Parts: sequence; C-alpha cells; structure tokens
Amino acid sequence: MKQAIATVKKTKEIQEKYKVFTKKSFGQNFIIEPGVVEKIANAAIQSRDELVFEIGPGIGALTQFLCEKSDQVVAFEIDERLPVVLENEIGFDHLQIVLEDILKVDIDEKIREFRKPGQKVVFASNLPYYITTPILFKLFEANEEIERITVMMQKEVGERFLAHENDKEYNALSVITQYRCDVKKVMDVSRRVFWPSPNVDSMVIQFSFHHKYHLEDENYFFDLVKACFTQRRKTIYNNFQNFVKDKTLAKQLLEQVNIDPSTRAQQCTLEDFIRLYGVTYAGTGKGKN
Ligand code: SAM
Repeated sequence: MKQAIATVKKTKEIQEKYKVFTKKSFGQNFIIEPGVVEKIANAAIQSRDELVFEIGPGIGALTQFLCEKSDQVVAFEIDERLPVVLENEIGFDHLQIVLEDILKVDIDEKIREFRKPGQKVVFASNLPYYITTPILFKLFEANEEIERITVMMQKEVGERFLAHENDKEYNALSVITQYRCDVKKVMDVSRRVFWPSPNVDSMVIQFSFHHKYHLEDENYFFDLVKACFTQRRKTIYNNFQNFVKDKTLAKQLLEQVNIDPSTRAQQCTLEDFIRLYGVTYAGTGKGKN
C-alpha cells in the first residue's frame, strides 16, 4: 500500500491538492486514524476472493485497506469530484468506482453485474449518516445474497440495531433487522478520529445474514411490527387493534400466542412477533387466497 490516507496530514494534503474540501450536504467526515479503517476492513472481509462493495469511499481512507484485503472492490460515490482523487491516490487496479447515488442504485443488478460465480458479497462503509437507515434497509431488502455488512454509524443509531426486548432503544427497526441478520458491535469509535469532527460518537456494527426465517409475506410482517410500536407508551393491544381493525379479534390473536394484551411491544421478542404474524396472517384471511 502507498502511504495511509487516513491521517490528518495526508487528508489535508489531498484536500489542498485536488481542492476537495468536505461537503456537509454529502455527510463527509473523513477518517484520520489508520488503525480504525484497518479494523473495519479486517472485520468486513474474511477472504481475498470476496466481492467488496464500499458505500461512500470519500478520498479513500477505508478503500485503501479494503483493496489491500480483497481482490475486487467496487465503490459507490455520489460526489463527482472524488473519482479522480481515488484513481490517482489509491493505486490498486482492482478498484472500480461507480459514480452514483447509492439510494438510486439497483443493488440486485449491481451484484449480478460484478459477482463471479460462487463469489460471496460483502458491504463495508463509513456511512453518510444522514441516510444510514435508508441505505441499510435497501441492502436488507435486496434479493441477491449478501453475506455481511460492516458499517460505521452514529452510536445512538447503532444501539437501536443492537437492542433486544426490554432495552430502552428496542424498536421496530431492531426487530426487523434481527429478523434478517445477526447483529454485533465491532467497536466504538470516538468523534475525534474524523475530519471534520462531528458532534456525535460512532460505532461499527456488523450485520450477518442468517436466513433463519422465511415468512410468506415479509412486508405484512414488517407492517405488523411497525404497527405494534406505533405509540410506545400504549399497550401492544392498543397498537395492534389498529392494525387488525377489530378489537375482539386483536385480543383473541394476542392471547392465542400467549402475549398478554397489557404488555408493551418493547417487551416482546422477535419470536413473539413471528408467532403473532402467523395467527394474524391466517386469522385475517391474509394467508388465504
Ligand atoms: N469512506 C470515507 C472515510 O471513511 O473517510 C468517507 C466517509 S463519509 C462519512 C461518507 C461518504 O459517502 C462521502 O464520501 C460522501 O460523498 C458519500 N456519499 C454521501 N451520500 C452518498 C450517496 N447517496 N451515495 C453514495 N455516496 C454518498
């Protein structure tokens, strides 16, 4: 590898050389600590032949280390000033840059375009924080297989993904994510390792797809979960009855799966929601065609 980009000196040097000063509107906070990007790359990639997609390479702090560890890296960047920087500064010919807004990218199509037969697909990113959740949900909804996603995000958001029943941060996002993935914290990251320094601390989280559950109508399941969390202070019965639009039926369905109607959604496990989906889907005629 050439000299590490993730240092204050190199970052400022590149910014001066190419006149690429950080744009707040693109959520640009570059990492200036090589140890941090190296750890993200090590966690993200398990083998050289994995196809690595990076979201938002910036000036290449993490990209360098991803290219070091994998033989194929494809990076999506929205800022048209940056491809030339990456091409000149990274110095690896197995890096491909796609100048596109990740929210407009057809993920399935890109995976099909770049993946070789049998190749595992992983995503890595120091995410643009203003679109953390939409990006992740886009990846969770992809039909093509993804092995794991390793991403830096705002600490408070990370805590919601990691939360389990009875935790303060537990919500619909936690349940829906854990339906698809095992979620683990890779590390906490101080705001001081970014340039410019944001006013929040960060966390690196890894999502590994587990393929444990295959519900017939996943969107219905997700809607049910979201409905149960609509008003956090209300009981699950209160929220759920609005979803099934029938008070008596709502009570019956909850009792059928041993959920006390007076509990709150925050007290229910993923398995509770899956059982509730099962009886609701059948009981409301959704599962019958
Ligand atoms: N990876 C670099 C690092 O760690 O130093 C930069 C991370 S910075 C937090 C987020 C990056 O995402 C920026 O390069 C920004 O231009 C890019 N970005 C922002 N919105 C994007 C979008 N919609 N699609 C693709 N890239 C985006």
